[in-house]
Amino acid sequence: MKPYAFGVDLGGNAIKIGLFQTTGNLVEKWTIPTRLEDHGSHLLSDVVDAIRAKMEERSLTWDVVEGVGMGVPGPVDQDGTVMRCVNLGWDILNVPKAVQELEPAIEKLKVANDVNAATLGEMWQGGAQWNNSAVMVTLGVGVGSGIVVDNKVFVGSTGAAGEIGHMCVNPKETERCTCGNYGCLEQYCSDTGLVHIAKMVLEELPEAPSMLREGEITPETICQAAKKGDIAASEVMERFGQLMGQALTAVACTVNPQVFVIGGQMAQAGMVILKPIETYFRRYAFHAFRNTPFVLAELGEDAGIYGSVRMLFDEVKLEEELELEEEEELDL
Ligand SMILES: [Zn+2]
Repeated sequence: MKPYAFGVDLGGNAIKIGLFQTTGNLVEKWTIPTRLEDHGSHLLSDVVDAIRAKMEERSLTWDVVEGVGMGVPGPVDQDGTVMRCVNLGWDILNVPKAVQELEPAIEKLKVANDVNAATLGEMWQGGAQWNNSAVMVTLGVGVGSGIVVDNKVFVGSTGAAGEIGHMCVNPKETERCTCGNYGCLEQYCSDTGLVHIAKMVLEELPEAPSMLREGEITPETICQAAKKGDIAASEVMERFGQLMGQALTAVACTVNPQVFVIGGQMAQAGMVILKPIETYFRRYAFHAFRNTPFVLAELGEDAGIYGSVRMLFDEVKLEEELELEEEEELDL
């Protein structure tokens, strides 16, 4: 393998890029803005320009760069076709083809869903090392998950495997989810979902004194209040834990991973988020996976660049092995 590669995390707010050595060492990381105008049509050329500029700055040529791994916030199929990415304004787009038209020297480009990439990143150099199967849950603007089985990302037939945010947990809900359905997990356990639960709890417990009655309610204020023993905030975390525990029990019934990794912006609050999920998971779980460990993500916002470059390395290694096998067959 050539000595360098780039990992890219195409986010709705910023694009994170990392220059890696193929040994796995992150040499440098930086971010560029996400330009959403014109249906996100400048995003890939911005990425290619940023990579070219970095290579020039460091006097690197394509002879020493193996390729690019990229995570995008939407469903991606095996050949790198993004199936509608609302956050970036994309419809259906084959990313490798579009990038290679911009820079034919990029021969190897691996594209995947950003949460799937982050899961691999955490298994490689983060909180879930030494495991070959894991489910990583990201809690933030939405609720997502990445599924890795036998060190391979499981994408599903339409690239939507792991979309647990749209698992129906309350069929009686009357408000619509962003996906158009009712009662999705995301409506209660995302950042806005948690605020939604808090407002319900405050209404249901008018007698309970609570810090949440003063000032703006945010996931941070809810977590802080729960840490201080606030009754209403603790009830919010209980309900959050019940829903997440229930959903992850369903995930464990089908995937049975070695470990669950809890990440995303909300997970930065730490144990106050992790503990209720773990508690209710153990209560609802089938005995054969009741003790599945739960860990917090460790790479933070870098998980995506680590994982996307790791996917590229895995693909290159696989190709090299196949070539070797073909050569051996020819020798016989
Ligand atoms: Zn939904």
